[in-house]
Amino acid sequence: MSIYPPISPLQRSTLMDVLRLRLASLEQQSDTQLEDLTQAQHAYKTMQQDMHEAPLHSGDEEVEDAVADIDSREFSAITQALLRIHGPDYGLCVDCHLAIAFERLQLEPQALRCTACQALHERTH
Ligand SMILES: [Zn+2]
Repeated sequence: MSIYPPISPLQRSTLMDVLRLRLASLEQQSDTQLEDLTQAQHAYKTMQQDMHEAPLHSGDEEVEDAVADIDSREFSAITQALLRIHGPDYGLCVDCHLAIAFERLQLEPQALRCTACQALHERTH
């Protein structure tokens, strides 16, 4: 396990751009409901179901509900990250309080946990 340096002001502004782009694309998606997005989210949902050992089959309505749910959860995670990004706790893991790797934040700027704690969290929740 490595310890990463806290993010620099330049990295912070890079992540702000990533968050703003994500937010803009989420807003666009909710307008247009692109089909490939829906498929991606269906795949995501299937993956989540795998992890919870739930049945894979589900009706279209359930899929749509789940897609809407994922959308709004990601939306709120991103808006909260945009609020947190100026605070001293942004980029620090909420569980172990170590800095989260910049590479991870670039992929998931709304991440609250470092890779290790996230894996643990997903196993136990
Ligand atoms: Zn951690």
